[in-house]
Amino acid sequence: MTTLVENLAAVRGRIAAACGGAGRDPREVRILAVTKTHPAEVVAAAVAAGVDAIGENRVQEAAAKRSQVPGTTPWHLVGPLQRNKAKLALELFDLVETVDRPELADRLETLLAPAGRFLPIFIEVNVGGETQKGGITPADAAPLVDDLLARCPHLRLSGLMTVPPYDPDPRRARPYFAALRSLADDLTTRFAVPPLELSMGMSEDFEVAVGEGATWVRLGRVLFGERRPAP
Ligand SMILES: *Cc1c(COP(=O)(O)O)cnc(C)c1O
Repeated sequence: MTTLVENLAAVRGRIAAACGGAGRDPREVRILAVTKTHPAEVVAAAVAAGVDAIGENRVQEAAAKRSQVPGTTPWHLVGPLQRNKAKLALELFDLVETVDRPELADRLETLLAPAGRFLPIFIEVNVGGETQKGGITPADAAPLVDDLLARCPHLRLSGLMTVPPYDPDPRRARPYFAALRSLADDLTTRFAVPPLELSMGMSEDFEVAVGEGATWVRLGRVLFGERRPAP
């Protein structure tokens, strides 16, 4: 796993450089290692290397791996969550980054309340307005926050997450990252909530995202190489 350690060091250097350019403190940017398609040994190596959190996009896949990975590094769900998988998701994940509709929030609240458990969540926002993608529209974000605050006391809104439209030129993602940041600022002011985390930026465009205020970058290929084919 020397390569992983080297890759992580290189990524940290690139984050520091992007922070330098933007007048930010690199300690504000955390690394979510997205381990989808990689086996539990790779996840364990990422934990040992000191990533801030593990990201998986499928509940079933995380279920097959989590018990084999030692340590207390938190796991984030970064893929779509169906209501019928919510119970299992709560057993596996410490934070859900993809809350994007009231029905899902209600389902999570119903499961959490009897256990007296509080779950930090991010709202996924579809800043590019792409119909095939998950995430709430920016216009519907405030009503969802209103709903969460009124009806879901066991969900702790702590950030926003986005996946911008694909573009081979990462610089073109900048306006989408800026839009997420400005939405976060609006919501913070409007609802008087603490500053929201910004989960944005992947292998191709994380430096651009850091320049626009990302506090979590979600990295797969730049750390682990190409994804593995399905077993
Ligand atoms: C796979 C995935 C990533 C990581 O993508 P890379 O391009 O490999 O860095 C980040 N976020 C989400 C939601 C993903 O599904």
